[in-house]
Amino acid sequence: MPQNGLITVRIAVPSPLRRTFDYKLPEHLRSKIDDQKPLPGMRVKVEFGRRSLIGLIVATNQGSEIAPEKLKDIIDIIDSSPIVPSALFELFIWAANYYQHPLGEALFTTLPSLLRKGEPAIPACIPHWKLTELGSNLEAKVLKRAPKQQALIDFIQQHSDCVAESEITALFSSTIRNQLKEKGLIEPVLIEKTPPAASDEILKQPSLQLDNQQQVAMNAIDLHSFNSYLLEGVTGSGKTEIYLQAIEQALRYERQALILIPEISLTPQTEKRFRNRFNVPMVTIHSGMTDNQRLNAWLQAKSGQAKIILGTRSAIFTPFKALGLIILDEEHDPSYKQQDGFRYSARDLAVIRAQRENIPVILGSATPSLESLNNSNKGRYQHLTLDKRVNSATTPDWKLVDLKTESIQCGIADSTLTAIKKTLEAQQQVLVFLNRRGFAPTLLCHQCGWTAQCLSCDSKLTVHRARGRLICHHCDYQQRQIHQCPSCKSSDLIAAGEGTERSEDFLQQRFSDYPVIRVDRDSTRKKGALEAFFATADSGKACILVGTQILAKGHHFENVTLVVILDADSGLMSPDFRSHERMGQLLTQVAGRSGRGKLSGQVIVQTHQPEHPVLDQLFNEGYRQLAQKLLNHRQLSLLPPFRALAVIRAESANPQLAIEFLSLARRLSEQHTTSELALLGPLPALMEKRSGRYRFILQITSTSRGSLQTLLTQVASPLEKNTKTNKIRWSIDVDPQEL
Ligand code: ADP
Ligand code: ZN
Ligand code: ZN
Repeated sequence: MPQNGLITVRIAVPSPLRRTFDYKLPEHLRSKIDDQKPLPGMRVKVEFGRRSLIGLIVATNQGSEIAPEKLKDIIDIIDSSPIVPSALFELFIWAANYYQHPLGEALFTTLPSLLRKGEPAIPACIPHWKLTELGSNLEAKVLKRAPKQQALIDFIQQHSDCVAESEITALFSSTIRNQLKEKGLIEPVLIEKTPPAASDEILKQPSLQLDNQQQVAMNAIDLHSFNSYLLEGVTGSGKTEIYLQAIEQALRYERQALILIPEISLTPQTEKRFRNRFNVPMVTIHSGMTDNQRLNAWLQAKSGQAKIILGTRSAIFTPFKALGLIILDEEHDPSYKQQDGFRYSARDLAVIRAQRENIPVILGSATPSLESLNNSNKGRYQHLTLDKRVNSATTPDWKLVDLKTESIQCGIADSTLTAIKKTLEAQQQVLVFLNRRGFAPTLLCHQCGWTAQCLSCDSKLTVHRARGRLICHHCDYQQRQIHQCPSCKSSDLIAAGEGTERSEDFLQQRFSDYPVIRVDRDSTRKKGALEAFFATADSGKACILVGTQILAKGHHFENVTLVVILDADSGLMSPDFRSHERMGQLLTQVAGRSGRGKLSGQVIVQTHQPEHPVLDQLFNEGYRQLAQKLLNHRQLSLLPPFRALAVIRAESANPQLAIEFLSLARRLSEQHTTSELALLGPLPALMEKRSGRYRFILQITSTSRGSLQTLLTQVASPLEKNTKTNKIRWSIDVDPQEL
């Protein structure tokens, strides 16, 4: 403490300004803090402009450019000790700098929203429902005629007899809940946390006996220090079992485990598998939670009460008392990168966090990203491979269908229809994949060639026939479906091309004896729709499941033996430099849904370009060899992961303003450019016009991450100062996933 007793604190506030602010800590507030010592990571209330704001202390007594008598006092101090451990807080600051995001905004992104608002960091009470004594001793036959009520009882039982109300309302109607309440089988309670497990035993169910290849991988994992493992295993090879056993070990050392997955609602099986295996308190962190639940989950991880935390991207910011292991499943999934605001990569932060905490991190995938493969080629990650499915379930057979040579109905070739028919007749399931929702991607005038375009985007409107609407999938503009061409007044309008809705209609007509179920973002919006889908899929009865990439997301279908990829061409034609990597991953993942049970599977891929090198490579040699080819190509083209890449984006309703802004960014960059750096642009973004704004990018590549960082830091603040107009939105995206 300086001699005059003055304590200055540097504060980050949630604002887009790339700077911090100095304040004084007045005498009377010191007693509110442990040891009277303000520390980074404590929240304070400050006057900012004419408002009062919650801020975070990022440093103390650093000296200030402003004379002490001119510094304002802090209004109040909220926390008596830092809300996240200091090592973690330093990681957050590091991440804000690395991703070139304004510090305050980035730091506030890492906190649950109640803490952002200044609420105290103590657990809130949350409505729950629990089984009554009558309910927990219920005989199976009592609710035989009320399967939905029985399902709710089972659901509560799976959660140690007590579940948050919001989790129930997500899945069950309030009528069912009330019926059970009236029967005296369940009752409401207010509690602040999920009750801890009843026994000391870590496992609820014994772990499986690992097969040879699993054992080799498991033996290689050292739980006592930092190491990054890339666990590459084909779908069904037993990766999840390795996660479970690694977690078990961490728990035995009295450590906690963090598991990140791309999407929770689509993978209820994953959560169930963790809950069924372990007897320890586990919390999930996902977007469907209430603010109170999220805060409580966060606090339980921090206090060490919760032993296992399962969450999506943002769970990487969760504080822990004793974190012992991080697992990131489907590590190639683009959803680990936040695409707006604080554009962090949860995968890359997971590795950095593990390194800083000196714990292992396991990145798992059947189709690892080129970044991770490169890291393992370079020896930065230890590469573990599972190349066989467990229980000798066979890997599926691929078949290419050349659409040029067959007659096609509604996007489906005759030979494909025959294969579907055979599969259904054998009482097995078919999965039909098409990455385009809606009925048809184009509304076309047969007389004059007019097509329905979105006025705000460089994009066509998609026909959604069941809803009678035309919808833009980029800005969500909607209008009623029209029946007359606005250009020539003809009524000869055609819905051209296929979306999942049309495929569903067609298949249902064609195979009317079997259920056809569609799964995409439209069909799953209705409450309970996903559950109904999973119920049918899991029942194993012959049916057709039609859907978008949701179907590729890790669900285990026992009885699917045929997977049909309707249109492989769309992914081959995209100009994005990652498109072939994505295509290879998606096709392999979808194909992995086939034949996971005892039956062997087949994959039919329809294409107009059967000789395309990506398809050729994928089918004849597999994802791994394709990935190696693509890596070689990236190296020759001086692209990531062989170059560090960042883009500065600008968008404006007036394209000229965005171009001028990026030209300035380019001039500023040129002043600092060294031989390692290369600039490209301003260029139009892949979709130049979106939501009424014209979008441009300046691309910066470098052989050295360090010099790229230095450059970005040097141009960010002059750019900020030069943004005099609010007519431009701009941002920096480090390690972008999309251009
Ligand atoms: P992945 O995560 O790689 O897709 P899973 O861990 O889900 O693979 O394993 C696929 C199936 O094989 C699951 O039903 C799982 O219970 C089973 N399984 C995994 N490991 C073993 C094992 N060692 N012995 C028996 N069954 C196993
Ligand atoms: Zn027309
Ligand atoms: Zn639009």
